[in-house]
Amino acid sequence: MEIELLPEHIIDQIKAGEVLERPSSLLKELIENSIDAHSTEISIHILDNGLSLLSIEDNGDGINFSNLPKAFLRHATSKIKRFEDLYSLNSYGFRGEALASLAASARVTCVSQPINLNESGGKLIINGGLTELITPQQLNKKGTAFFIKDLFYNTPARLKFIKSKISEKIQLKKIIYSFVLSHPEIQFTIKWDDKEKDFFKIQDNFDLTKRIESTLPKNLHLLFAEESYMNYKVKIFFTKEASKNSTHKHQFLFVNARYFQDKSLHQAIIRNLDSLWSYGESGHYIVIIETPPDAIDVNVHPNKTQIKFLESDTVFSLLVTAIRTALHSIASQHIPLPTEATSLFTHDVSQFSSVQLSSPDSYNQHSQSLQQNEDSSFIIVDNSFCIIQKETFYFIINLQNLMIEVLLSLVEECLTNEENISPLLVSEPFQVKNNAIDKSFEQIKKLGFEFDRLSSDVIILRTIPKNLPRAILDCSSKSIIEYFLDFKDSYNQNDFKICLLKSQNKNPVFNTQLIKTLLAMPNIDNKYFMVQLNKKNLGTVFS
Ligand code: ADP
Ligand code: MG
Repeated sequence: MEIELLPEHIIDQIKAGEVLERPSSLLKELIENSIDAHSTEISIHILDNGLSLLSIEDNGDGINFSNLPKAFLRHATSKIKRFEDLYSLNSYGFRGEALASLAASARVTCVSQPINLNESGGKLIINGGLTELITPQQLNKKGTAFFIKDLFYNTPARLKFIKSKISEKIQLKKIIYSFVLSHPEIQFTIKWDDKEKDFFKIQDNFDLTKRIESTLPKNLHLLFAEESYMNYKVKIFFTKEASKNSTHKHQFLFVNARYFQDKSLHQAIIRNLDSLWSYGESGHYIVIIETPPDAIDVNVHPNKTQIKFLESDTVFSLLVTAIRTALHSIASQHIPLPTEATSLFTHDVSQFSSVQLSSPDSYNQHSQSLQQNEDSSFIIVDNSFCIIQKETFYFIINLQNLMIEVLLSLVEECLTNEENISPLLVSEPFQVKNNAIDKSFEQIKKLGFEFDRLSSDVIILRTIPKNLPRAILDCSSKSIIEYFLDFKDSYNQNDFKICLLKSQNKNPVFNTQLIKTLLAMPNIDNKYFMVQLNKKNLGTVFS
């Protein structure tokens, strides 16, 4: 058995890697921060695909001197103060991890002037986690600048994860364009290696069509169509021309002003435009979808850009209809351009708040059902059993068996419906050297636990069954790993139950909170963990 706890500092570094896997993910975090700070001008300078220098300057609200060092602490954020704020969040950020991760692994200089020009801003230099300089400084223009040199200087192992330079550049461009296209109200200047310079100025009235045109090569014909139904609206912009070459092609999907990726929508576009784009070729397209805020589920994994639509059929058919309408009008030589595409991209992430955080939300529901459940009270006996009173009867509960029952029922729910799987805000690392486990990842994923191998020693957990109590996350994950390593390569409920009963993994601490949560779980019908307390059966319980 090779499952061990990782030292804290390694956990920190791995979590840093989650946020800043590559230069493009860092750039995404920095641009999001600038947008969150209400910037209207953002300048980016990239040398050697961000590995030598990545700098970003904005004219946003800035950071004052006393807050400057705090911005670089883990879980430091100005965006939420209370847990409930997560639900009314109006920004991209809230995890407070980007700058902390950055500070741990690169050489960073940050200069900032707060919006109140009478207040002092400052300059801060951090090299690989060590603060070299912090000094107050007052400028006559609000905004923040980051200069990042030698990204991964403190974590050279990560450098080898950066694929080819060409693919990194494509990725950087993809990130930049996803913001350029979704924020016509912001002026972007991008300088590549002192040579190329891209400039996207704010168009009159934040005109989205003009913004899209300015990102495309001249002499292409841009076509447009839109369809709507109830609260759904789908707009598509695409070029008449197509080519085989796929680099530098703009193929973007946005929903409610957020960039996402979706293979089946992409294929639907390509297939439906096959009368225009010949086989094996495609053109540029930009699809803008608006849905009711609660009709999508945003995967909150930091590096993933996936969205689940509650009514994917509606989105799908609106998109296909829009494309056909557009093709029709080309046939009749009438090429429409949008008239009111401007207010599309009002950036309002608050729409996501209620669905985005599916797991904390469901924890909340549980605690609510607990409060209503006040008629059951209990006493804990030596961290293994508890005695509960229900009406006038007493029951003794084997806590380990109760936990197993909960885990089995949650896993079973994932097997029947993958909607019951929920992403972790921050992935959990586990040290597992034996890579025999890797071939079971697909199987394990079906149970709600999605693992990825990060290095020869470490695998990380990205998803868990919805409603899995945090306190049993660790031992559940380890038991699953153990089961697939030592016992089976496919899942069988009975074998798994036996494995859990014999598990070498320690039980969690069954504190009051955990027991309340476990007892409040719905769908626990097999009551083998619970025996009514009377003289006759006391023997059964303690055997
Ligand atoms: P988060 O965005 O999740 O809050 P970050 O680590 O990305 O966490 O940033 C930490 C804090 O630093 C932010 O909450 C914000 O207060 C401040 N900050 C970061 N970048 C900027 C910026 N460009 N302009 C103003 N404030 C910023
Ligand atoms: Mg941020």
